[in-house]
Amino acid sequence: MGVPRKGIVSRASPRSTGRQPVELEPGTPAAGARARPAAFLDRDGTLNEAVPDPISGAPESPLAPEDVRLLPGAAASVRELSAAGYLVICVSNQPAAAKGKITVEQVLAAHERVLELLAQEGADIDASRLCLHHPDGVASELAGSCRCRKPEPGMLLDAARALGIDLASSWMLGDTDSDISAGRAAGCRTVLLEYPGSAHKRLGVVQPDLIAADLADGVRQLLDRRPR
Ligand SMILES: [Mg+2]
Ligand SMILES: [Zn+2]
Repeated sequence: MGVPRKGIVSRASPRSTGRQPVELEPGTPAAGARARPAAFLDRDGTLNEAVPDPISGAPESPLAPEDVRLLPGAAASVRELSAAGYLVICVSNQPAAAKGKITVEQVLAAHERVLELLAQEGADIDASRLCLHHPDGVASELAGSCRCRKPEPGMLLDAARALGIDLASSWMLGDTDSDISAGRAAGCRTVLLEYPGSAHKRLGVVQPDLIAADLADGVRQLLDRRPR
């Protein structure tokens, strides 16, 4: 998992077994601390470019650190959210190890690269939650249903408990319906990022509070709506 960096302590052996999300976080809030709002950010297609599957063309997670590219404006958006007082939490479904494509260590290495590229631009993610599971997984330890895979709200609820987050004043931003469903189920307001090539399928099963062209636009809109 590499050396702990500012804002992130990577546990030597992340909790990745059973039905729990992997946790990467700086620690627990001080007792009596006031609950803070968070911005929960999807990762692929929100912070970094999704990589088209070579066969289907479907947007997929980058599987190696060298394939990770930040989307334009992603780092600036994270900085703006932090400056506005939001804890910035990345919540991401990462089933490639469950599907037997790569190892858990490789999944985590790609995630570390996303965090590293953001940090190089002064953008610190306060904590991450990764769901490594998949219902049709072939790796038995990671196969099956769980409470953390979006559209389930488990990663958001888990982070909220651990970090003292006020969900009602928090936002979930992502490029798929499952991001919006997870955010709503957790009691957050939601921003759907919909741009040409995004993973959003227009299933129309959930209604976001806001629709934005990209993360920068979504952050601008949600900061405009904040009560002052
Ligand atoms: Mg996405
Ligand atoms: Zn899961």
